[in-house]
Parts: sequence; C-alpha cells; structure tokens
Amino acid sequence: MADVIVIGGTDSSGGAGLSRDIATLASLGAKAVPVVTAVTAQTDDQVKKIQVLPPEMVEAQLECALRTRVVGAIKIGMLGNALTVALIAGILSKLKNVPIVLDPVLISSSGTRLLDVDAEEALKHQLLPLSEVVTPNLLEAAMLTGMPIGDGAATLEKQAFHFRAMGVPNVLIKGGHSTGDVVVDVLFDAWGDHVEFVQTRQMGSMRGTGCMLASAIAGQLAQGVALEVACHIGQQMVGQAFALRAKNQDGVATADLAQ
Ligand code: PLP
Repeated sequence: MADVIVIGGTDSSGGAGLSRDIATLASLGAKAVPVVTAVTAQTDDQVKKIQVLPPEMVEAQLECALRTRVVGAIKIGMLGNALTVALIAGILSKLKNVPIVLDPVLISSSGTRLLDVDAEEALKHQLLPLSEVVTPNLLEAAMLTGMPIGDGAATLEKQAFHFRAMGVPNVLIKGGHSTGDVVVDVLFDAWGDHVEFVQTRQMGSMRGTGCMLASAIAGQLAQGVALEVACHIGQQMVGQAFALRAKNQDGVATADLAQ
C-alpha cells in the first residue's frame, strides 16, 4: 500500500498535529511518513511555545520522505510561517499525480496562531493551487476568502467558489464549529456540484478532529478511493472518535476506528 506523507507540527498534548495524523492513518492500515515543520508545547487550553524548524531541516525531511517509498497522498497541516509554506510548495510543485489534502491550520482551538498572518497569502497563492482538496473549518473559510463567517448554504457556496478561483478544485467546508443538532460538512467539487455529509452532533469538543479528518481523507485517496467516499469515511471516523471518547473518557482508541 502506498504511504502518506504527513507534513505538520507536533503537539505535546497529544491531541492534534502529527501524532493524530499518524494514529489516524495507522487505524486505516496506512503508513504515515512524517515531516515535522514545527514543535509546539501545548496543553488542551494553551499553546505555550512554538519552534518552527529551520527550512533546511524541513526540506531534508520532505526530500527523504519523497524517496522513502511509493507516496499515495500528502496531507498538510500546521506550517508556521511563510518561508516553510514557500519551501514546501516549491518541492511539491515538481510532483505529479500525488493528491494533496490541505488542512489550512491557522489558529489553534485555544486561540493561538499556528500560521503567521503574512503566511496566509503564501498559502493561498502557492499551496492552494497544488492541492486536490482544502478542508477549512468555518473560521478558516472566512479568513482565507475574506468573506464573513457563516454556515448558510449561500455563504458556503460563495466561499467555495472563491477557493476554487484560487486554484483548488475541491473544497470541504467543515461545519463542526456551527450550532444545532447536526454537524454538516459540505464538499464542493471540481464540477461545481456539492454534497452534504450530515451527522448527529455529539456533546463536548475534541482536539485534533481537523487533523483526523484530513488524514483519513488522504489515507483513502492514497488507496484510490473517490474523494466523496473519502470525505464520508473521514467524517464517520471523527464521529466514532467522539463516541469512543464519550464511552472511555480517557482519550481516543484509534486502533478501534478502522472501517
Ligand atoms: N497543534 C498542532 C500542531 C496542529 O497541527 C493543530 C491542527 O492541525 C492544532 C494544534 C490545532 O488543533 P486544535 O484545533 O485541536 O487546537
């Protein structure tokens, strides 16, 4: 089976970032090849410190990762700054036929910026056009399109149109931060169609759900699964993780999440 390169930051709380990516892919039977962009010291409530790795170290990891084995997909999460965005975009622009899933990580749920403000433009201009799908939450969709935050169908459609104009064919806008009894994620695809993935909203919040969803999608794409099915499976995995956490109250047993 083809490997999945996961590019992103570490999270010392174990909730989000690369450890979540690796666990998610392991539960799908896929091997994750990690490229660390930043080390973060954080708890569930606070990001204490961020160290973005030197560009030459990120570059060396990515080049080794690309040589490791057959790469079936690439998932991108936290990037930290514009230099890292440009460097990764430069390397990935030479790749052909490897789907890239871009989780545009901007701000942690505890409120700290994980991508510098001035790096947003680089992300939009350099990485979006290389990606097969981008997976913003409602806030990220608003920030990256410059449109007001909202979860109404008309707003999401306009945001998706804007994303597609920036060069990414498929846009999955995640509705987890909305309110209501159900969570609706909407995939706007390359043909201008859209499909809604609806799940019952579960109590509480959980770290790293965006990482989990994007990694699950990348893992599926690496196996040749169609994007719509990959998104559906990803959303179900997140739902199962919530349910398991509620049952165990001691974290997520991702090994039990395989489809
Ligand atoms: N920390 C790292 C290293 C991440 O990659 C991410 C998300 O991708 C986060 C934190 C944000 O996760 P959360 O929204 O659960 O705080």
